[in-house]
Amino acid sequence: MTHSPILRPSGQHALLIDGKAAAALITADIGRDVAASGLKPGLAVVLVGSDAASQVYVKSKGKMAAACGFHSVQIDLPAETPEAALIAHVASLNDDPAIHGILVQMPLPRHIDAAKVIAAISPTKDVDGFHPLNVGLLATGETEKALVACTPAGALHLIEAASSALGLKLQGMEAVVIGRSNIVGKPMAQLLLQRDMTVTVAHSRTRDLADVVRRADVVVAAVGRPEMVRGTWLKRGAIVVDVGINRIEGDDGRSRLVGDVAFSEALDHVAAITPVPGGAGPMTIAMLMQNTFVAAKRAR
Ligand code: NAD
Repeated sequence: MTHSPILRPSGQHALLIDGKAAAALITADIGRDVAASGLKPGLAVVLVGSDAASQVYVKSKGKMAAACGFHSVQIDLPAETPEAALIAHVASLNDDPAIHGILVQMPLPRHIDAAKVIAAISPTKDVDGFHPLNVGLLATGETEKALVACTPAGALHLIEAASSALGLKLQGMEAVVIGRSNIVGKPMAQLLLQRDMTVTVAHSRTRDLADVVRRADVVVAAVGRPEMVRGTWLKRGAIVVDVGINRIEGDDGRSRLVGDVAFSEALDHVAAITPVPGGAGPMTIAMLMQNTFVAAKRAR
C-alpha cells in the first residue's frame, strides 16, 4: 500500500476514504490555478423557493465558489415563479459572458418541469452535467468534451485514489452501482464502464441485492435508505463509496446522518470506505468548482 493523504486508519480493518480532505486538496488546486490563469470563472446558482436543505446547499456552493476566486452569483426566486420566468432567467445567464456555470438547484416546485429547465441551460454552462447533450457525451465516452455530473465524478475520484493507494487496478474488476437515478446511478455506471470495469446496476427491482453486492470489488451505494447494505453483503477487500445521505434518530434521541451502508459493520469487511458525512458529499461541491473552471477555460 502507498501513502495517500485521503486515506486514514479507522481503527478496524478498513481504511477511511476522507472526502473532505480530498475535496480540500482539489479546491486548493483550483484556487491556485484560477489565480495563475487570469480568469474569473463565474458561477450562477438559481434557487426557486425556500426549501431549507436547498438553501444550505446553495449557500455552501456560493461560499466555495468565492473561496476558489470565482465570481459567484445567487439568484433567489419565489416558489410561485412561473416556469417561463425561470427559463427566461436561465436564458439571460446563458447570454451573460461573466457567467460560465449555471446551476438550478433541485428539486424545483411541482409546477415547474425540471427537464425543460435543464434543457434550457446552455450545455457549455451546464456545470451540473444534467443537460441531455452532456449526458450523451458521457454515454458515448466523449467525456473530455462533456461536463460530467458532479456526484459521480467525485465518487470516481475517491475510488481511483483508494484503488491506487491499495495497489489495485480497476480494469476488469467488478463494480456494483446501487441506484439508477439520472444524477448519480446512471452516470456513475458510465464512468466505471469507461474505467474498463465490469459494471452491474442494481435498483429497486433487483431480485437478490445481497447476492449482487457480494461479487463487487467496488460498490457505490446511491439509494437513500439508511444502512440498507449490510456488512456481510460486502466482499472482503472491497472499496465502498456511500453516496446516500439519510437523517435518522439516534439512540440518544438526537438526529444524525447515516449513509446507505451499515458503516460499522462494513469496517470489518472492506478495504476502504467513505464515511457519511465527510465522504462523497464534500466531493460534489469540489467537482462543481472543477466543472465551472473547465467551462471558463473552454469559453476562453
Ligand atoms: P433517487 O431517489 O433518484 O434514486 C434512488 C435509486 O435507488 C433508484 O434508482 C431506485 O431504483 C433505487 N432503489 C430504491 N430502493 C431500492 C432497493 N430496495 N434496492 C436497490 N435499489 C433501490 O435518489 P438519488 O437522487 O440518486 O440519491 C440517492 C441518495 O444519494 C440519496 O440519499 C441522496 O440524498 C444522496 N445524494 C447525495 C449527493 C451528495 O452526496 N452530494 C448527491 C445526490 C444524491
